[in-house]
Amino acid sequence: MKNLLALNWKMNKTPTEARAWAQELGEKLEAGQAELAVMAPAVTLSALAANLPTGVGFGGQDVSAHESGAYTGEISAAMLKDVGATYAVVGHSERRDYHGETDAVVAAKARQAQANGLTPIVCVGEKLDVREAGEHVPFTLAQLAGSLEGVGTDVVVAYEPVWAIGTGKTATADDAEELAAAIRGALQERYGDAAAGIRVLYGGSVKPDNIASICAKPNVNGALVGGASLKVADVLGMNDAL
Ligand code: PEP
Repeated sequence: MKNLLALNWKMNKTPTEARAWAQELGEKLEAGQAELAVMAPAVTLSALAANLPTGVGFGGQDVSAHESGAYTGEISAAMLKDVGATYAVVGHSERRDYHGETDAVVAAKARQAQANGLTPIVCVGEKLDVREAGEHVPFTLAQLAGSLEGVGTDVVVAYEPVWAIGTGKTATADDAEELAAAIRGALQERYGDAAAGIRVLYGGSVKPDNIASICAKPNVNGALVGGASLKVADVLGMNDAL
């Protein structure tokens, strides 16, 4: 299975900056081993659709749990699909923490994404106190079970230990593999043989010099990258390393 390099810009880049980034990527990107997709602010997606090089996809950083209607400020899965997105991130820890998203809400968003032909990237992962208590595996698997309620197999799971996001503290490749293997086991129980086709990503301070060792692990199929997704040079470095 090809690694997926999912680039999460978070709340960075205007449409003008997104256009310049996409054009620079197009000038410099050489065929790599990974699939690339940019998870970008909704207002930049049209600029990405028009300027990303062929073969590089994009998606939303969130999606509404509702089909349409009186949900001021939300972006529906149909809107993302219409602009050409193929992915939607759901349940990022920043959404869970700052917007109170529960596993049930995350699952509803993932179902909406799938119902509209988008592949949800479902994020799970523990905070530092949970890891220090040695509860990171059961905690993350419980979060996963809740976040996949009613969700089909066209899904990507991103294991992102919250203590490693944006902190410069990366989990070791063995830490990433421990959870990726546990997640793979849970996916097998839930989906049977189809689980083999589901990508499990690692996220948390991934950059060009650590991505190769993490993605070399047998159950890790790519990375969800925040900080190192903003500069084209870092993206090229990660793509080259895979
Ligand atoms: C993220 O935004 O999901 C993330 C992993 O961020 P960073 O790579 O900056 O830790």
